[in-house]
This record gives sequence, C-alpha cells and structure tokens, in this order.
Amino acid sequence: MSESAVPGGRGMTVASAFAGMRNVAPVVFRAGCPDCRERFELAASALRLAIGASSRTTFYSFTCPVCGAAVRKPAGERIVELLTGGGVRTLRLHSTV
Ligand SMILES: [Zn+2]
Repeated sequence: MSESAVPGGRGMTVASAFAGMRNVAPVVFRAGCPDCRERFELAASALRLAIGASSRTTFYSFTCPVCGAAVRKPAGERIVELLTGGGVRTLRLHSTV
C-alpha cells in the first residue's frame, strides 16, 4: 500500500535496487557535532567517507545540520564497514590500491 513511487526521490540505481531487496528502510547513521554538541541522524547521502593509507588518514565527514559546522571524525574499521555498507560515498585518498 505504501509502495508508491516517491516523487523527487533518488533515481533507481543498481545499488539502491539491491539495498531495497535487503532492507526497505533508509539507512541512517547517528552522529554528534563537537561544535554545538547536538546529536542527530544522518542519511547515507549526507556523509562522506575518506579512506587513507592508514587508519590515521581514514575519516568520515559531514556538515552539521544544526550549526552548519564541517565535522570530520576518524573512522575505524568497523565504521568504514558500516558506512560503505550503508551506501555512503567513499573517497580513496591513497593511490596504491
Ligand atoms: Zn553543530
């Protein structure tokens, strides 16, 4: 009944088609802002993941929806898995793949 198309939604990509098979609910990630100390949930599209050569240069970033601060936080292995699995855009910083 509630399966109607969503106007203005994202286009159907292969990734979203697969995600739709597994899980209908959109993936959200909990995050906190170190600036205004607000806590909120972000959609995968609001996050960005940068994977560096080491864990020190691997981090995720987002813009705080409350105060607009650009937040960057280190991402451990588990977070990287969660984010990539949730469809977060990933940027690889190191050239040696
Ligand atoms: Zn904030």
